[in-house]
Amino acid sequence: MAKKRRIVIALGGNALGNTLPEQMAAVKITAKAIVDLIEEGCEVVVAHGNGPQVGMVNNAMIALTHEDAQQPNTPLSVCVAMSQAYIGYDLQNALREELLNRGISDIPVATMITQVRVDENDPAFQSPSKPIGKFVTADQAKMMEENFDYVMKEDSGRGYRRVVASPKPVEIVEIGTIRTMVNSGNLVIACGGGGIPVTRQGNHLKGASAVIDKDFASCLLAKELDADYLIILTAVEKVALNFGKPDETWLADVSVEEAKRYITQGHFAAGSMLPKVEAAVDFAASKPGRTALITLLEKSRDAIQGKTGTMFHQ
Ligand code: ADP
Ligand code: MG
Repeated sequence: MAKKRRIVIALGGNALGNTLPEQMAAVKITAKAIVDLIEEGCEVVVAHGNGPQVGMVNNAMIALTHEDAQQPNTPLSVCVAMSQAYIGYDLQNALREELLNRGISDIPVATMITQVRVDENDPAFQSPSKPIGKFVTADQAKMMEENFDYVMKEDSGRGYRRVVASPKPVEIVEIGTIRTMVNSGNLVIACGGGGIPVTRQGNHLKGASAVIDKDFASCLLAKELDADYLIILTAVEKVALNFGKPDETWLADVSVEEAKRYITQGHFAAGSMLPKVEAAVDFAASKPGRTALITLLEKSRDAIQGKTGTMFHQ
């Protein structure tokens, strides 16, 4: 039998929804798309984002400090850990059910709580840029800066929001365990929300007040697992040049060189499409035969068959 194609799939916001009931419903559709790929003969590893979920957990933990003066504020790294467990639970449950519904009973599903090491000297720590959590008034923002050491920034006339650093992932701490689980046939969910950001202090790993981009963490995971494909699922079927303009052109197939040129020309928005294209280029350039795909969740089966999506190759 031919060697199974190994795929790391990175789930975007639309694969998980924004609220508890939305996530419960969304994971059912997501599980179908993932099991479709397994039925295509692929070995799948799942990574995912956590924007709305980590914001929700963070807000809930802040509310707790208002209710009970004994409760200190919860570090962001702990909020990411909570979001990994909550999302992992819903995904595990939905994937198990979908596999069983299709008569597949020999693929166990498991979530790995994943720490991802970042460099404490990463320049991103000097310029926190990623807004998280809810909008607050100027007074509340001042209180949060004083009480919690948060960096608060005014966000386009809509109020103040906390901003955190988004450093690059350097090392997936639990990669050995993840590899063993994948190699022995488990369907693994890992690097949720880009991973729990930690820095190294001797043998101690210290949680960092940061959010790692899930597109970069998924790229590192795919390289470390020697995957054949990195599939980044998002809210668009293809990547465009001149996105949203009259001369918008959808891309089907791009070489690493072409994609780098399009990045320089500024075709991809920072914070949304740019990290995806950068991650896709990084993966495709890392070894001959490695392919990255950016497409819609519902189109993942078609994309792996070469029918749609934007494909990046050397
Ligand atoms: P995710 O939650 O999957 O990370 P994002 O909203 O962060 O999703 O990024 C996907 C969005 O990027 C698309 O819905 C689209 O609005 C936007 N986008 C920006 N530039 C482009 C581009 N050049 N081509 C396609 N989509 C783009
Ligand atoms: Mg995003």
